[in-house]
Amino acid sequence: MRAAAPSAIREVRSPNGPIVFKVRNAVMNILFMGPPGAGKGTQAERIVDEFDIPHISTGDAFRLASKQGTALGLKAKEYVDQGLLVPDEITNGIVKARLALDDCKKGFLLDGFPRTLQQAEALDVMLTELGHSIDHVVDLKIDRGLLLARLTGRRICKTCGSSYHVIFNPSKVEGICDKDGGELYQRPDDTAEKVGTRLDEYSSKTAPLLDYYSSKGLLREVDGEKDIDVVTSDIVSCLKGTL
Ligand SMILES: [Zn+2]
Repeated sequence: MRAAAPSAIREVRSPNGPIVFKVRNAVMNILFMGPPGAGKGTQAERIVDEFDIPHISTGDAFRLASKQGTALGLKAKEYVDQGLLVPDEITNGIVKARLALDDCKKGFLLDGFPRTLQQAEALDVMLTELGHSIDHVVDLKIDRGLLLARLTGRRICKTCGSSYHVIFNPSKVEGICDKDGGELYQRPDDTAEKVGTRLDEYSSKTAPLLDYYSSKGLLREVDGEKDIDVVTSDIVSCLKGTL
């Protein structure tokens, strides 16, 4: 059995009287992991709302660094503009600069980083330097067949860009937009072959990461196949140590 995480709620007694306030624990440092199509983005948004902490994605951190014109930000932009993968030293530096900002003192939810074991080890070093540590690593678990169905079933209207799904949110007439009669198409990235490749890449890269965090006792596996609201409440319970 897993040891319960510290409660996110603590009691504070006023020194002048018997009034007891319940306030949130000041710090909740979370990593969010899950394959493409697991609903990670939606759940991450809900969790940062619940705990009132910043949602940090590498994409946002890159944009901020580039906008601020920091040396690392400009270097990263050169790679991104050329369609190249940003090297780890630059990515790590940008993430560290973002985590050093004041709003992370009350906690943070890091999404999309680390992606490799090397990045995870670098993250541990930078967090130690910043006086932080990871409290929870949330992993959304979803069956591969369901992910394939979710991702390959997406259809988009050529006219208005509305999104449908052949199983979960079908249009009234197959292949035709309900709103404007536009033709529905499948994005090239959503074909079974492309989706399969993406899922394989994700699994092979993150499996060692999951082992790494599991061995540190930080991994919280959550069933991502349930209803979207149930998944949210399961994650919250997990983080509060009540699941
Ligand atoms: Zn349409």
